[in-house]
Amino acid sequence: MGFFDGLRNIKKEIDRVESSVYSGKQSLMEVYERNVKLEAEIAARTKELDTANRQMLTLQHIWDMMNSSKPLSSVLNAIVSSLQGELGYLHSCIAKRLVDKDGIYLQLVACSGELFGDSFLEKFNCEPCDLRLKFPDIEELSHTIENNKIYYSNDILTLLKSVVPDASEEFITELAKATNTKSYVLVPLAYKHSHFGSLLVFSSREDATENELNFLNLFAKQIELAITIADLFQAVKEQAITDGMTGLYNRRYFEEFIKKEAIRANRQNQKFTVIGLDLDHLKKINDKYGHNYGDLAIKAIAEVLKSSCRSIDIAARMGGEEFNVILPGVDSQGGLIFAERIRKTIESISLEKIGHITASIGVGTYFEQSEDVDELLELVDNAMYHSKRNGRNQVTLSKPITETSWQEVAIATFVDILNKHQIPININTSKLLEGMGGNNETLYRVSDELVSTYNPEHQEGGTKRKVILATLLAKRLDLPKESIDKLKVAVLLYDIGNTMLPKELLAKKEPLSEEDKVSIKQHPIIAAREILQPISRINDIIPIIEKHHENWNGTGYPSNISGEDIPTESQIILIIDSYFALMENRPYRAAMSKDEAIKTILEEANSKWSDKLATEFVEIVKEDI
Ligand code: GH3
Ligand code: MG
Repeated sequence: MGFFDGLRNIKKEIDRVESSVYSGKQSLMEVYERNVKLEAEIAARTKELDTANRQMLTLQHIWDMMNSSKPLSSVLNAIVSSLQGELGYLHSCIAKRLVDKDGIYLQLVACSGELFGDSFLEKFNCEPCDLRLKFPDIEELSHTIENNKIYYSNDILTLLKSVVPDASEEFITELAKATNTKSYVLVPLAYKHSHFGSLLVFSSREDATENELNFLNLFAKQIELAITIADLFQAVKEQAITDGMTGLYNRRYFEEFIKKEAIRANRQNQKFTVIGLDLDHLKKINDKYGHNYGDLAIKAIAEVLKSSCRSIDIAARMGGEEFNVILPGVDSQGGLIFAERIRKTIESISLEKIGHITASIGVGTYFEQSEDVDELLELVDNAMYHSKRNGRNQVTLSKPITETSWQEVAIATFVDILNKHQIPININTSKLLEGMGGNNETLYRVSDELVSTYNPEHQEGGTKRKVILATLLAKRLDLPKESIDKLKVAVLLYDIGNTMLPKELLAKKEPLSEEDKVSIKQHPIIAAREILQPISRINDIIPIIEKHHENWNGTGYPSNISGEDIPTESQIILIIDSYFALMENRPYRAAMSKDEAIKTILEEANSKWSDKLATEFVEIVKEDI
């Protein structure tokens, strides 16, 4: 073999080695690339798994919430919050589908965190539940909902504009930008085969993946389930007849039972007695020893009632620390004995830490004090309050309405009003009511305090003078005693609606606008009706109060009635109220002297009031120094 042959062979060998190295490199590259691909796939799968895991946890969270028997609103709020927290949506809300005269709209009923940040709601001075969604393609949306389809949109600006129509275009654009909101999804929620509303989700992503939409659909199904369960819980609660804490019957059962008992009593002509009982000073027990000890006292009373009742008696916890017992076939004498026995037993028990407790009791009997269930319950309540005012730890037999003095009616009404409404009255004054036992002076003081809350010009003793004047005038006009008594109570209550008037309006120095005038006129009448209507003992006094702005010539309000159509008692109140008002400073005019006021009253004879009333009135006030 020559030299060149040797070289050729070496070259061949090099080529062979080179090609084998190359093919080895080639396969190594392939392996490497395959690995990279695999890694990417593993990462994507891990991400998917992670998302699925989070979704599972979120669903699990909903399940926990559903089993907690919390009220629906807190369940829904927790659900939407979990969607925001775990799955990275910017906001999520549940909106209820409602219809008003202008068509369909969505009202937010639950909302995650701060919708579009703190300042959004603050700027519009509203709560999430005040927000309504009513955008142009809501019709399309409702069609989507009809078909149980998800609605997806990038048009965030139109949606926001519909929620806050007063906001400027710049504000809305800025808001969407600042919060990075790019799209929203609406998933329909069905309940009992009709539309409950929608799940609304805001996202910072332009698009939603199919997986995401599928999950939201599943999520919405869980919300539907939560709504159904909460509704079932509510239904079960409503069907319950016993009070969870004491095991006594609850208010619902009591109210049903007493109605049936009255029917039975009517049919068999047989009496039954109602005992009303309220634990004394529970607030003090709570404050001093804690709520658990307050509960202990309530349970102790319940045990006394259980052990004292016959099998046919019904003992119920009406709420808080209030109990009622129905004793079928028992008259008031038997009722008083039963009540006294309970009172003594309660007084004799000694509880851990608290020591002795007491209760105030009222007793009333169907066919003795009243033949009407609601009235009887009110009389029993009045009797119980009488026991309280008289020093607590005692039993009072209720009085039939006809024997109840006008002062008692007024006191019980004030107690009712002060218990039910937030009137900024001096606490000591309202406490006075409790120790009264029908004392007129205290009644006038409380009444003066009430009037002072809306009329800073009101003089102490003013209500007393008004009642005296009204009585004198009514006697001159030959009104029967019954009417005079009603009138006296009405004089104490006729402006009670003013306690609900906005303070700014009452103090306005500049002349009132037309709108203000309407408000000043209508508001007290509406408020008075709201305050007084639920108090049935004054049912026949309310019409007197409602007509005390009607003028003799028909120019008054609210009904423009005239002449004899206006109750005389209302006319008496109108003239007395005007007379006192004329002699008081008003932001828009100075006070008149007595003579000037009398002159004005006479000038308005035959227009605001009858000539006869003006003449009689002036004769009385002339003598009054
Ligand atoms: P009075 O003798 O005038 O009845 O005084 P009181 O403190 O018992 O009555 P008041 O109506 O001023 O207050 C009742 C308090 O009872 C206020 C409320 O917080 C408390 N209360 C209501 N329900 C419950 C309950 O279930 N448990 C406890 N511990 N306290 C309750
Ligand atoms: Mg009490």
